[in-house]
Amino acid sequence: MAECTHDCSTCGENCAERTSGAPAKKPQNQYSNIKKVIGIVSGKGGVGKSLVTSMLAVTARRKGYSTAVMDADITGPSIGRTFGIHTKAMGNSKGIIPVISRTGIKLMSTNFLLPEETDPVTWRGSIISGAVEQFWTDVLWEDVDYMFIDMPPGTGDVALTVYQSLPVDGIIIVASPQDLVAMIVEKAVKMANMMNVPVIGLVENMSYVECPDCGRKIYLFGESKVGATAKKYNLPLLAEIPIDSKLTKNCDDGLIEIFEGDYMDKAFRAVEKL
Ligand code: ADP
Repeated sequence: MAECTHDCSTCGENCAERTSGAPAKKPQNQYSNIKKVIGIVSGKGGVGKSLVTSMLAVTARRKGYSTAVMDADITGPSIGRTFGIHTKAMGNSKGIIPVISRTGIKLMSTNFLLPEETDPVTWRGSIISGAVEQFWTDVLWEDVDYMFIDMPPGTGDVALTVYQSLPVDGIIIVASPQDLVAMIVEKAVKMANMMNVPVIGLVENMSYVECPDCGRKIYLFGESKVGATAKKYNLPLLAEIPIDSKLTKNCDDGLIEIFEGDYMDKAFRAVEKL
């Protein structure tokens, strides 16, 4: 446990000296009605967290739900790229208007607010956390059945802000096989437990490659341990996604909305059960 600063508003510990109960959740603005909030987390970057977030949103949208994605990976935003959006978000006197994707998914990401999308975000931690809160309080989301939050990798400052300030209904942990060691999953599970947020399950990305000739699954990183890990922490295994060059192309061309396959069906069914 970190040394106590006696500032309970910035701390998630449930210790005996806590003076102010759990930190207050930020209210939605009067124009928003967001019903379920799902965080997508990973222990480190590059494991496919944004891809999984985007595919979940697309799956929800295909089922007819009003869907939104909040890109809380403020310094490494990639939701605009994945959905092929290079325009800017506009605002009015009521707040910031989310950008709408081709299939009608509402999106908000730092890249929509920067003068150039290649501009680096060199903000201090408190400003970054403030931006995440504003994505919740100042964006005119209106009616949303499912909001998926692309969380920053790891268990740092901004992740803490999301857990403390936003009413997260559950999280999905994304890991790749080489990083699917108990420690990384355990850190994410423990953080969610500390914050009283249910872990919906585990997604293993880049699990294997399928031979284009014979269809055999090749486990590049050795035999998958995901089943054992899921069992150890009593978590449902929601998906094992192969390395698929079509997915890379969908992502890189901004065409994630036309991805093929049922990769996220089981995961989304678990979300629907919340
Ligand atoms: P993260 O959000 O964890 O940093 P991304 O979702 O941005 O990771 O993925 C990083 C890169 O890896 C992207 O270019 C994406 O297209 C590619 N990628 C991720 N998962 C897969 C996969 N299963 N098959 C092919 N490419 C993938």
